[in-house]
Amino acid sequence: MHLSRYPRVSLAHLPTPLEEMPRLTELLGGPRLWVKRDDCTGLATGGNKTRKLEFLVADALQKGCDTLVTIGAVQSNHCRQTAAAAAKVGLRCEILLERRVDDHSEAYENSANVFLDRLMGASVTYYPGTQDMKAELVAHGARLEADGRKPYLVPGGGSNPIGALGYVNCAVETLRQADELGIVIDRMVMATGSTGTQAGLVVGFTGSGSKVPVLGISTRHPEAKQIANVKRLVDATTDYMGLPSIGEEHILVNDEYVGGGYGVPTDAMVDAVRLAAQYEGLLFDPVYTGKGIAGLFDLCRKGVWGEDENVVFLHTGGSVGLFAQESLFAS
Ligand SMILES: *Cc1c(COP(=O)(O)O)cnc(C)c1O
Repeated sequence: MHLSRYPRVSLAHLPTPLEEMPRLTELLGGPRLWVKRDDCTGLATGGNKTRKLEFLVADALQKGCDTLVTIGAVQSNHCRQTAAAAAKVGLRCEILLERRVDDHSEAYENSANVFLDRLMGASVTYYPGTQDMKAELVAHGARLEADGRKPYLVPGGGSNPIGALGYVNCAVETLRQADELGIVIDRMVMATGSTGTQAGLVVGFTGSGSKVPVLGISTRHPEAKQIANVKRLVDATTDYMGLPSIGEEHILVNDEYVGGGYGVPTDAMVDAVRLAAQYEGLLFDPVYTGKGIAGLFDLCRKGVWGEDENVVFLHTGGSVGLFAQESLFAS
């Protein structure tokens, strides 16, 4: 594993901190809870897509492209970080937003992430929730090419083997921090969606022989489907990196905290976001990390892990999305 083999631009503030959550640990009675602060990657309010974009944008620049084109839900953190990355390196950015969530409030449609997309100069087009967005992305790229532009198509969530390198890097970085602190990480827990984060972590942690299991709390798909999706990207990433393949037993997904579906709020998410804010001053988001920590807290309360284990929650960012759905948290 030698990541400097791959072209990369510097976009993120790295390493992100690895911090304890002592008050939540005490409240829940263990295990020992840590948070890896990828909400602090620094690019226009940060988040996990920034690490992926370091490798994706380098590839776009190497190929001589002039425009980043990508897709996401209306309040996509990925699109917002892509718009910021494009601005930072001087590329154009065109964003195709899918009305995947049934929330047509003024705040959801125009505030928070989508406000920032426009502020950073990206062009934004809305599509109905039933559209095949991958096909729309390809069609949009073809239209730009016909106009003489050189588009670079960034897949949803930046999740392909090039983007996943960002989370191989995060695994390596986290292991180095744990070694410096003299702690053994017993497991990492995170919210999983388009799979690039989990797949990269599995390749980084398993491929390096660290024996750190990674549990993805699903934010969209049922367990079997999400495991298959993660496995596909793990396979593509090990192929890309020339590493031995990794068995499906290393891909752990829990789908018990999705609730009504992608972006549909749950009571457990609202409670967990409040608890983390009030006990640690940490801001989690309604769509991804809020469901992720709702899962983390519930599994702690059920006592599935030993009291002395070190459990690291990967904070993948997204707190700016709170401002699209403030009314959920009004007491
Ligand atoms: C995209 C995103 C995730 C999920 O990461 P994937 O790599 O898409 O699985 C988790 N948290 C936040 C805040 C995100 O924006």
